[in-house]
Amino acid sequence: MRVAVFNTKAYDRQFLTHANQTFAHKLTFLEPRLELTTAPLAKGHDAVCVFVNDVVDAAVLTALSDVGIRVVALRCAGFNNVDLAAAERLGIDVVRVPAYSPHAVAEFTIGLLLAVDRKIPRAWTRVRDNNFALDGLIGRNLHGRSVGVIGTGKIGALVARTLKLGFGCDVMASDVEPDPALEALGVRYVDREMLLREAEIVTLHCPLTPDTRHLIDAPAIASARDGVVIVNTSRGALIDTAALIGGLKSRKIGAVALDVYEQEADLFFEDLSGEIISDDLFQRLLTFPNVLVTGHQAFLTEEALEAIAMTTLSSLADAEAGLPLVNRLDPRFIAISR
Ligand code: NAD
Repeated sequence: MRVAVFNTKAYDRQFLTHANQTFAHKLTFLEPRLELTTAPLAKGHDAVCVFVNDVVDAAVLTALSDVGIRVVALRCAGFNNVDLAAAERLGIDVVRVPAYSPHAVAEFTIGLLLAVDRKIPRAWTRVRDNNFALDGLIGRNLHGRSVGVIGTGKIGALVARTLKLGFGCDVMASDVEPDPALEALGVRYVDREMLLREAEIVTLHCPLTPDTRHLIDAPAIASARDGVVIVNTSRGALIDTAALIGGLKSRKIGAVALDVYEQEADLFFEDLSGEIISDDLFQRLLTFPNVLVTGHQAFLTEEALEAIAMTTLSSLADAEAGLPLVNRLDPRFIAISR
């Protein structure tokens, strides 16, 4: 299949090229992000391959359809950036990688939590400056702390299990479909409001949907425990950033660790170190000593990149051969499963 790979980074090229030895697709690596102005670059291809912050709305899908694109392959799990109903109307199949390595994201989540809670980045900065003073670096044990996991699918379940079994946390969870295996471990399912009221640490692992957008907002923060620690490695728009900043300024929130940010599409995955950043909310976030932000890298392990490349290219081979697409996103199914 002739595939236009948008938003290509060096690691995409490396892992897709290697996996393509098995498939022999014709891959065209393009650096621009997919959006309305760049959609014409897909001309001459059968499929596009895109990532989390590419724009795949109705207008872009129409432009892709006009140049003969039949398949959109997401090289990620989340699909909130795609208008699935429009894709269906246009006869474009959308495939994704539903599970490439939940361990990659779960392990990074625990890493972020420990880093912000034990002030590891601040300590490292000090030590590099030969400042070995410990004042201001007091953390708290994870053992015995109450943690609320919102969304216990593949990633959230691993995080809940690790915190429960590995660290001895008191884990509660909220999900539209409770996981009996987690309940058997002693994870308590409660409603979201109770979780937000009771948990000392809240970690987000649900998808971004109309129901979950800004689930951490000003009222949720006001209802939370004093000193609550908030971790988000799922999708930025689960959190109302202005409300988060309000909670940090009032000292209601104890610490925040983010791998995702609501307006990340304008920032992440690019080297902007020589640029002026005009996003004042993001810049304000970076000023807090108790905030840790990474640029959407929780997925970034060798294992995950290999699995993403293999699954994506395999789906495209199935599409070319007219085989059933096991990783196709069916808007009707998703509407029901939400
Ligand atoms: P998953 O589909 O296995 O799990 C999602 C869980 O959320 C499911 O159990 C679902 O029932 C639950 N859920 C749905 N609506 C909910 C609601 N309103 N309230 C509570 N729970 C709800 O997905 P996953 O593989 O575990 O991934 C979780 C999220 O992580 C993805 O949606 C994606 O946005 C994000 N993600 C981030 C990265 C990264 O690099 N930072 C990488 C992969 C995935």
